Amino acid sequence: MRFVAPGLYQLDRLRISNAYLLEGPGGDRWLVDCAHRLERWRLLAELRRSGLRPSDLSGVLLTHRHSDHAGNARYLQERFGVPIAAHRADAEILAGRQSRPRLHRRAGTRIAGAFAVLENRWPARHLEVDRVLEDGDTLGGLDVYWMPGHTPGSVFYRHGPTGALFSGDTIVTAIPPLTIREGLSLPYSSYTDDMALALTSLAGFHARGVPYEHLLPGHGPPLVGGARGTVLAFLEEEQVVPADEEKGP
Ligand SMILES: [Zn+2]
Repeated sequence: MRFVAPGLYQLDRLRISNAYLLEGPGGDRWLVDCAHRLERWRLLAELRRSGLRPSDLSGVLLTHRHSDHAGNARYLQERFGVPIAAHRADAEILAGRQSRPRLHRRAGTRIAGAFAVLENRWPARHLEVDRVLEDGDTLGGLDVYWMPGHTPGSVFYRHGPTGALFSGDTIVTAIPPLTIREGLSLPYSSYTDDMALALTSLAGFHARGVPYEHLLPGHGPPLVGGARGTVLAFLEEEQVVPADEEKGP
């Protein structure tokens, strides 16, 4: 586990996407995202190395339903009874009650196109989410912000005590799925259901002045310290937020 802030760790050895462990004051332990099924053994090995069994987890909070983030949700739930939490819009798709938007290759690279095909063909396995989240909910000390666009039920989770913002794929620090280029990036178009909506969500969130210190994305290294200012400058550059946006804390 890689230390990010007190009680907050990034799981090592995951190559396809990030997962994070958050320790609560009462001994509770939450995972934010749970890796692609191809990396199941890496996920389990990382937990084991920290002296944790999957059944020790209080739950998994999904940033969204894509297979590289929710790939082991059904397995952890079925095999170890780990409760799974996700926003209602993605929970409905995960349960198979809502149709799954298909990804298109669009302007993506060849490798991105190949991963889009994989996602279409082998999405995260169906499951009934144990805790359905809505905008404004709090779970495991994390505040839920609905950020539709990348998927209908994408969310940000904000952890007040550490100042961490878990951003899933709505803003990342590397081009997924493999790190082709590092640096802040908008959601990758090949994997995003509604880009315009994702950008509106990003602008809306930052207009609310919600403070955060560290950005913990679904892909790429965490941005530790002063993350909000860095992200705002990037969003101005990309013309997602107006240049005169109040920078806030
Ligand atoms: Zn995604």
